[in-house]
Amino acid sequence: MQLLKCENIHMNYDSTKAVNGVSFSVDEGDFLCIVGENGAGKSTLLKGILGLQKISEGRVIFNGIKKSEIGYLPQRTQVQKDFPAAVKEVVLSGRIGRRGKLFYSAEDRQIAAENMETMKISDIRNKSFNELSGGQQQRVLLARALCATDRLLLLDEPTAGLDPFVTEDMYRLIEHLNLEHGVTVIMVTHDIKSAVKYANKILCMEHDGDFFGTTQEYLDTPAAKRILGGDGNA
Ligand code: ADP
Repeated sequence: MQLLKCENIHMNYDSTKAVNGVSFSVDEGDFLCIVGENGAGKSTLLKGILGLQKISEGRVIFNGIKKSEIGYLPQRTQVQKDFPAAVKEVVLSGRIGRRGKLFYSAEDRQIAAENMETMKISDIRNKSFNELSGGQQQRVLLARALCATDRLLLLDEPTAGLDPFVTEDMYRLIEHLNLEHGVTVIMVTHDIKSAVKYANKILCMEHDGDFFGTTQEYLDTPAAKRILGGDGNA
């Protein structure tokens, strides 16, 4: 079943064109990676889907899913890295948007505990978020995003700044959520090798035109062959 469709999306910052006619769709269970050059509009597109930034032309169509059922992991900022709260509170705060109030129920706490278990952070639940490593912080924020949804996650470069081992670990966790928990994933990444390894669909945004299709179709494009080497496995 198709969950989300974007038709000819255009977005601007004042006079600066940020997203230039992007179209793609995701079905339930898809793992879509959005790749492409810096400044191509990948982060802006995610904000457009979430309604955090205005779309000037085109439309986003949600099928059987509400905006409140989308979990979002924005790019990491210094403020987030320095957030002085216990891990369990950060994870639980993911329930706020869902419920629209500040008081947590027993069910909220149960869901937060389950998501900490899934992300393997139960043992650090009482630690302060700002004392954690970058990889641990990203797991906490992913658990937080899961508190908002178990249907669709929008992840903006969740592995940026992480070392290669932690990055691989993070990809495996996201794959686990996708394959074992049935969470649909849309993820912006610079890491094309990992994108073609884990995603079943690719949206490649470039200033001179976009590609959208299956990972296999992407591997057959001249651009992918140039980046990855002839057989796509370099
Ligand atoms: P990507 O995520 O692909 O690197 P972005 O979505 O961050 O691209 O940016 C797309 C374009 O919009 C770029 O030209 C960038 O400079 C511009 N841009 C991004 N954020 C802002 C902002 N807050 N104000 C003005 N221009 C912005």
